[in-house]
Amino acid sequence: MAGPRIPERIRSLQPYKPGRPIEEVERELGIHGSIKVASNENPLGPSPRALEALLRALPGIHRYPDGGAVVLAEKLAARLGVEPARIVFGNGSNEILELSCRLFAGPGDEVLFSSDAFLVYPLVSIAAGATPVKAPPRGFEHDLEAIAARLTPRTRVVFLANPNNPTGTIFRRREWERFLALVPEDVCVVLDEAYCEYVEDPEYPCGIDFLDRHPGLVVARTFSKIYGLAGLRIGYGVGSAAVMDGLARLRQPFNVSLLAQVAAAAALDDDAHMEASRQRVRASRRRWSEACAELGLDFVPSHANFVLVEVGSGKTVTEALLQLGVIVRPMDAYGFTEHVRITFGTEAEDERAIAALKVVVSEMHG
Ligand SMILES: *Cc1c(COP(=O)(O)O)cnc(C)c1O
Repeated sequence: MAGPRIPERIRSLQPYKPGRPIEEVERELGIHGSIKVASNENPLGPSPRALEALLRALPGIHRYPDGGAVVLAEKLAARLGVEPARIVFGNGSNEILELSCRLFAGPGDEVLFSSDAFLVYPLVSIAAGATPVKAPPRGFEHDLEAIAARLTPRTRVVFLANPNNPTGTIFRRREWERFLALVPEDVCVVLDEAYCEYVEDPEYPCGIDFLDRHPGLVVARTFSKIYGLAGLRIGYGVGSAAVMDGLARLRQPFNVSLLAQVAAAAALDDDAHMEASRQRVRASRRRWSEACAELGLDFVPSHANFVLVEVGSGKTVTEALLQLGVIVRPMDAYGFTEHVRITFGTEAEDERAIAALKVVVSEMHG
């Protein structure tokens, strides 16, 4: 029996390959005490306030969550200075990326992004039946001019990551303003700001400030990175009330769990955790640039909480680091076969990863 036919476009999808869990790697290699610096998680862990709130909420998990996440939406709206009706929450910001794509793009439509961007963009485009269109980057940066040059009457969605993953690069205000002015009003621009809280560059354009310049702008943000809640799955989109209404119609009624809502609300109040997380990343950025200079390795200066390091063969170095109990991410799926992406850790994790990289690099040269 043949069974139902899986559409060809789905069969040809390359599933997203996440960073490997510590437990899996250790079981396979028979080692202990590994560190995972592979998935851009917060090494300080979740906000202690979020943990407390979660414990208080646990006895209530037989109830469905608030489907509209009203309490959280009001709190976040006040923080961002927007109306609550301009926010939709998702099961991670990945769901916002997916819903935005499904809302506007289908068969015959084009979804446009830079070829060095987050791999979820082609995945959600193909899943929606649309045609992904890739623009070449400029070095390790998004080239917004090249992206604008590929806008066609069939373009329905543009994805931009600022900062980008896996390069950690940003585009700045002038380039962004010029770009936005070129995008027709009926095209949805999804500005993925998963790492915005880490950026210190004064020319970084905060997407929220541009919502009124383009009716199709959706700013996607997450609680997975600086807030340290990746395991709970919660992110959000901010855009026009009309677009947000469209996303809300498309989402599942209870797409964000009760625990995720409670933890996110508490984490929003934890300024100390946010500041400590920023400081940690600042220190790691300095430490990793020193270390790369010392090891003679090129790296892409990062505005986020990870760094793309040129190591020769990303695959070989990833495997060698695994043997030493350091889990990083090879980047061949992004076409960066000579790089690995390393997430900034605690001070101890950074030192451990740097020491391991030193061993691997000297073995390769020796
Ligand atoms: C980590 C990341 C996200 C966030 O994903 P969640 O679904 O919120 O965990 C979004 N975009 C990029 C580019 C990322 O690297």
